[in-house]
Amino acid sequence: MVLALAIVLLINPSAFAWNNHHGITLRIIRAMPKTSFERLDRLARQAGFPGASALAGPAVDEPDGGMDQNLDASLDPPGDRKYMGGEKGPNSQGFRHMYFAGWQIQSPLVTFQFPPRALGQAPLRVQKTAELAKKLLQKPATFGEGMKQLSWALHYLEDLGNPYHSSQIPTLRMVPWQALWTWPPQKAFEDLVSQSSRVISNYHRAFENYIEVRMNYAFTELPDCLKHPTRHSKTAAAYTGGLPQELALRLNSDSRALAPALGRASINLFGEWLKLRDIDLAEGRGKINYEDLARRPDLNSQRMDLEKTACIALANTSAASVRLILWAFEE
Ligand SMILES: [Zn+2]
Repeated sequence: MVLALAIVLLINPSAFAWNNHHGITLRIIRAMPKTSFERLDRLARQAGFPGASALAGPAVDEPDGGMDQNLDASLDPPGDRKYMGGEKGPNSQGFRHMYFAGWQIQSPLVTFQFPPRALGQAPLRVQKTAELAKKLLQKPATFGEGMKQLSWALHYLEDLGNPYHSSQIPTLRMVPWQALWTWPPQKAFEDLVSQSSRVISNYHRAFENYIEVRMNYAFTELPDCLKHPTRHSKTAAAYTGGLPQELALRLNSDSRALAPALGRASINLFGEWLKLRDIDLAEGRGKINYEDLARRPDLNSQRMDLEKTACIALANTSAASVRLILWAFEE
């Protein structure tokens, strides 16, 4: 089995991060209890798949490939896309891949977001796809389609494990307050919102690319956070029972709690320069040497800081995902 997983890893160099759902899911499958893994492996083989690793096939990255982009307005009744990447283009998929639970008066700074209501459909996507998967997996004729739906459900759930997908503003230190000095003053707020979203998306992108590079070093601790979640996260053991949507919301809430630390660590490792007005990583304005950041001795403490939080996020993601797989195959 290890050999089969290794082969899949080799022929599928990571192309996406939680750029790389494929690599993350493979490791999650390895974190399943042995008897559950063997049952999944057997069922998958009986249905003509190469084994349990089929759950980490192309379908697990598929939701990032365009199917959630440029959707009809009727699929976004509250109009969340306006605040989550826009209504057209590649970023218009964001509302189905993120969830910002809303502003809470008890923790006004940590939960600060605009608008203050809950935004995004990711937990709902987890529920819908997982429910359909469970139904389809029960019959041999629809087992294959069920595996695909479960891969999709895992994708949306894994996204929620990324603190950048669970918090609109990980730390207020990412807000470029100098934008408020824009003239005329009516334009200042608009400018602040657009500059903030560019800056946060720079750090978000840098984080995902960095994790992808780091996970490719087989000797690092990061993959271990996925394979042995309870060793790395205090809350991982709590991912039991409940419907897929409840599981998704629990992961989202744990993930959001990690956002301020991850945000600060991102600024410290990637640098303040990502806030500069002309830097837009999505548009190719600004470049980061991730291999260099992953190795430089003078960045040891910044790196450890970021990876400590990333590791907990990955561990939570893994524990929740294993639970979702088990739920889908429960009688
Ligand atoms: Zn996604």
